[in-house]
Amino acid sequence: MGLREKFKVVIIVGVPGVGKTTVTKLMLEKARNEGINIKIVNFGDYMFKAAKNMKLISHRDELRKLPLRTQCKLQLEAAKRIVEDSEKLDKDSFLIIDTHSLIHTVSGYWSGLPLHVIEILKPDMIAVIEASPEDIVKRRMRDREIRMRWDERTLDEIKFFMELARNSALTAGMFVGAAVPIIINKEGKQEEAAIELLSKMKSL
Ligand code: ATP
Ligand code: AMP
Ligand code: MG
Repeated sequence: MGLREKFKVVIIVGVPGVGKTTVTKLMLEKARNEGINIKIVNFGDYMFKAAKNMKLISHRDELRKLPLRTQCKLQLEAAKRIVEDSEKLDKDSFLIIDTHSLIHTVSGYWSGLPLHVIEILKPDMIAVIEASPEDIVKRRMRDREIRMRWDERTLDEIKFFMELARNSALTAGMFVGAAVPIIINKEGKQEEAAIELLSKMKSL
């Protein structure tokens, strides 16, 4: 087992509602215009699909309320399946994984990127998307789906969770030697964040 996949692996993390999916999709458009081949997967989609097939839950936000051992099993399955589904990517391609470095489960804070997961995913980069707690609250108010997923209610609680999530990303990066850029997704500036993300990816 090598240290890296033949293609480049970039994990995108950030607290719910910060704009991971938005920035990642914008980056994809820009990369395609430059002829760069990119595959984007959502880790939560893989976990949710497996959980739904097992008739465990019917909504993706119920994932983090399942018994922790069940979540752990689904998490491992998702990581393995993502790599299996990406075997056709060549050395100039990127696999982008939209996920979380920290999950607020019913059992407590829980890493989205524990060693057994990052050993499978072998990321070259773990990009942390951040924004001010005030901007995150605004986004959350506009998006009902995302609003439901929050346990952090006050600005201080959001800030605290963002700091824990950033530290979790740095810790995961340390174990596999991944770069950990922090990309600020300012209000109305999602294009800039996407350009910065792509530029960091091209440096790998
Ligand atoms: P989750 O972890 O729940 O999947 P996410 O981090 O993927 O959330 P998005 O779904 O990308 O977040 O974005 C949340 C909301 O914020 C969306 O309504 C999106 O349009 C909006 N948004 C994202 N980036 C910006 C930005 N820079 N300025 C203003 N609104 C933004
Ligand atoms: P998302 O749509 O990205 O917010 O993901 C939906 C749900 O999937 C999250 O709320 C988590 O419960 C779960 N999830 C996503 N990524 C991970 C991960 N790396 N490890 C464990 N659970 C995850
Ligand atoms: Mg998302």
